[in-house]
Amino acid sequence: MTNRTFTMIKPEAVAAGHAGKIIDMITSSGFKVIALKYTRLSREEAGTFYEVHKERPFYGELVEYMASGPIYAAILEKSNAVEDFRKLIGATDPAQAEEGTIRKRFAESKAKNACHGSDSNENAEIEGNFFFSGRERF
Ligand code: ATP
Ligand code: MG
Repeated sequence: MTNRTFTMIKPEAVAAGHAGKIIDMITSSGFKVIALKYTRLSREEAGTFYEVHKERPFYGELVEYMASGPIYAAILEKSNAVEDFRKLIGATDPAQAEEGTIRKRFAESKAKNACHGSDSNENAEIEGNFFFSGRERF
């Protein structure tokens, strides 16, 4: 799985109608879509997904936000996928994100930052398995 990563287009970016443009940036950058779905997290699911941040002061806000509307979830394939995708999305805070990155172009704020990208191969696998069964990957 070292050539795969997992992403979500987050609720505010979907609501603003940016999903198509973000998917275009992703595929134009050489990532192949292996699995894709339009779905919505319950508060409980959002809490489980971001459980690593449970002790952080923004956890409650993060869970509310991620459950606030539908998202797109996807598994992506490319050599060096995790690292290259983190480069494509840019820094967590769009004010720090480089030109040409997804967050620079579409994020509203550090909290509402348009797009998620896995931070390790191990988490890419865990996160992909959270959303997709084997028969949903091609
Ligand atoms: P993601 O995991 O969504 O790809 P990231 O790895 O860049 O983002 P994390 O540190 O894992 O950043 O934080 C997870 C998410 O929590 C961020 O993407 C953002 O939505 C939210 N977040 C992070 N820091 C803050 C903060 N200081 N205030 C509010 N929300 C925050
Ligand atoms: Mg993260």
